Amino acid sequence: MKVYRSQAKSKSVTEAKSSLTNPRPSPSSSSSRPGFSVADGFEPAKAVKTGGLGTPRTRTNPNDLTFHGGKVLSSPTFQPIYVGDYWSTPKGAADRTYNDAFAKDLVSGNHEAILSQYGVGKGQAAASTVVPGAPKVVTQADVEKLVKAQIASGAVANGPQTVHMVVLPPGTVLSDGNADSTQGLGGFHNSYVGADGKPVYYGVVCYSQGNNGIDFTGNGRDNVTITESHEFDEAATDPDVGQGKVAWYNQKYGEIGDLAVNSGLVPLDKAYVRDEKGFAVQVEWSNADHAFEGVKKA
Ligand SMILES: [Zn+2]
Repeated sequence: MKVYRSQAKSKSVTEAKSSLTNPRPSPSSSSSRPGFSVADGFEPAKAVKTGGLGTPRTRTNPNDLTFHGGKVLSSPTFQPIYVGDYWSTPKGAADRTYNDAFAKDLVSGNHEAILSQYGVGKGQAAASTVVPGAPKVVTQADVEKLVKAQIASGAVANGPQTVHMVVLPPGTVLSDGNADSTQGLGGFHNSYVGADGKPVYYGVVCYSQGNNGIDFTGNGRDNVTITESHEFDEAATDPDVGQGKVAWYNQKYGEIGDLAVNSGLVPLDKAYVRDEKGFAVQVEWSNADHAFEGVKKA
């Protein structure tokens, strides 16, 4: 089933994840939704259970995020896991070097400084790893199994604020159960309860190109970093959404990354900027400015 905003509103969302989608119109959906185009990237606004958390603070702008009492990652660790034999080819290895550098940049750069107002501080990058294989389709269950195996084998380190970022190879289709990347799904983040009873955080991103995923710039490296910034920033500001404990959220649009890409508020080609080191990152909503911000001015 394709995930459209209208369907999601009537759907009781117990979905244990937050997905980034830019659905492609099918013949039937485009006729029922005149004017819809791929550039109208959005993901459904997901109703979340906020019972017992009291009334959210008064908003000063309908796009502002409100705090619902959940945990925020104050010093998150970005830990990349590259899936597929592609990453061991010369081109894949060069992409990996680029993306490892991005992970270091993201956690300490001026883009992430936007998040300080939400309680997220500077973080760190942890060593990446490559998982061989050539998966055609990767599901949420596959991702969790893979992350568990990497932690269990010691290939990657886990920590209370680690976000394992699973990066798929070119051509591999990502499916979240509702939509797949050929329909515009770019990635999602979620958590599962680890062996010690504590949450393990992860994100997964498509190597978006052409009709697979969300092709922001035509360059796969950029598409990966933009989607990673989306998922990592959401994992930092709303890590436990999958466990039903919401932190920063907008009831209409969803999590922080969703305002720019899934709401239709910003055209896809304006939804990203380049940071001070030239990496492409998604613009994020700043409550302080009541506006989208790409890179925090020093
Ligand atoms: Zn999102």
